[in-house]
Amino acid sequence: MPLALHGIGVSRGCAIGVSYHLQRNQPEVIEYAIPQDLVEDEVLRFEAAVAEARKQLEDIRARVAPNVPAEFTSFIDAHLLMLADPALTEAPVRLIRNHACNAEWALKLQRDLLVQVFDDMDDAYLRARRDDVDHVVRRVQDVLLSDEPAPDLLASRLEGRIVIADDLTPADTILMPHQGVAAFITEYGGPLSHTAILARNLGIPAIVGVRHARRLLADDEIIIVDGQLGVVLTELDEDILNHYRTRQKEEQRQRRGLTKLKRQPALSRDGQAVTLLANIELPEDAPAVVDIGADGIGLYRTEFLYMNRPDTPDEEEHLAAYLHVIKTLDGRPVTIRTADLGADKQVDGGRRGPVATNPALGLRGVRLWLKDQEMCRPQLRAILRASHHGPVKVMIPMLSTLHEVMQVRRLIEETRAELREQHIPFDEQLALGGMIEVPAAAVCAAHFARHLDFLSIGTNDLIQYTLAIDRIDDEVNYLYDPLHPAVLALIANTLRAGRAAGIPVTMCGEMAGDSRYTRLLLGLGLEQFSMHPNSVLEVKRAIRDTDIGEVAAAVNAMLEIDMADELAERLQALTA
Ligand code: PEP
Ligand code: MG
Repeated sequence: MPLALHGIGVSRGCAIGVSYHLQRNQPEVIEYAIPQDLVEDEVLRFEAAVAEARKQLEDIRARVAPNVPAEFTSFIDAHLLMLADPALTEAPVRLIRNHACNAEWALKLQRDLLVQVFDDMDDAYLRARRDDVDHVVRRVQDVLLSDEPAPDLLASRLEGRIVIADDLTPADTILMPHQGVAAFITEYGGPLSHTAILARNLGIPAIVGVRHARRLLADDEIIIVDGQLGVVLTELDEDILNHYRTRQKEEQRQRRGLTKLKRQPALSRDGQAVTLLANIELPEDAPAVVDIGADGIGLYRTEFLYMNRPDTPDEEEHLAAYLHVIKTLDGRPVTIRTADLGADKQVDGGRRGPVATNPALGLRGVRLWLKDQEMCRPQLRAILRASHHGPVKVMIPMLSTLHEVMQVRRLIEETRAELREQHIPFDEQLALGGMIEVPAAAVCAAHFARHLDFLSIGTNDLIQYTLAIDRIDDEVNYLYDPLHPAVLALIANTLRAGRAAGIPVTMCGEMAGDSRYTRLLLGLGLEQFSMHPNSVLEVKRAIRDTDIGEVAAAVNAMLEIDMADELAERLQALTA
């Protein structure tokens, strides 16, 4: 009888393969004293280890196939940057000198300090940075503790294997397709970690948060990873193996079918045209948007411009990034979201001041942006200047009051006047939109719709705030439910408000890219979806399979249902 272990499926698809235990714990480190006359030798040993770790990462980077999008290799670049950061290069040296201690111990002390700062943050992307610190430190510790080069995924024979680890670095994950890794399972990590995002984008079935996986799953045995259900199966019998072999064949057939949809229109069965937009984080992601045949960019998360660097981007740097995207998109619309940083997302890694008790409810998104003139003014000038070169829209994250909209409008007016005076051209019609991702904004969507040119529903945060669950905490992940009646009611209300005001409403949270919800959203009246480029074709297929007129009545009836279980059943019936 097969045994099932449960975790969080972060990348759909299933895999059958032989398990491979990867030892990647932070190594045990002990402290010992270094005689004063050998302290400088210890410093040199530390610096040599950092250099070796850097060389390993550069080797990994060089081995990544050239067609892998820059978005993926940027994780390696982030690790390389960390390895050059004084917090990891100079601080341990000071500790070695001040305490006359061994390099491993100095590095451990500094790692504990840094990790503490990151642990207090609640933002998904920055929490991923905490993992990055751990991964980089582990790499240096491996070099310090071993005469051999650190055991690396590269050195292992991983063809067809299912990797089981406590956690994995993005640098490890990015090489997996080239090494033929069938799937991976980790004991820790949430669905929004860099590693999880990579797995999804690279199409590797993956499950995270499988507690005790290394204890419960033996090395070298055939196991199954069902990324869709978030289940690992072991102690298999022929029936279950045959079931999954058939499913794998079906998945392959479906993938082949999908590429044929690239140049097909996103038209529903009853002839309604739907707009399919893409989300990007970096300018380098833009070619994938064009390649997949998306209609434009519905969410450009510009906060990534501020990350992994000691300084703040200036107007020219913003402009260069936006122009690159506009040029690549070649006439398709580009929605630039103003930086969505928060109290915990200080660009200097939170070293400026104390971390708020409840950072998700603190100074983040538009609140911080409006407060920090150094942040909002250069960005706004660059967006306006960019608007002269292509169809640009600007979008405000985390709106909770209309007052914020008024403040942004005033700032835009001031910036326009400044540019006019300087004879710098910009688009006088630049559209201003707002994200509906705070319940207050969703409840009052009609008010926002009267003062904005478009709305965009950010379901990631809307669900987090509506259900009061931290979107990156795997302990409460089971409560993260896009089908909760409260969430559906808020989405429906926002769509109604957009229709009444005659302005477009997009959805750019993860829900928009999940084809299980496409029919439901179409039935609610959503006409613009924005998602990771990799999800575009699957959602397009769901749209082409749907008669919107036919599903609308069933979907509206769903809004009356109060039990989550019944909603899930109705959704299944709707998508069957
Ligand atoms: C959202 O909250 O749904 C969203 C798209 O914004 P982000 O994921 O960047 O917070
Ligand atoms: Mg958000």
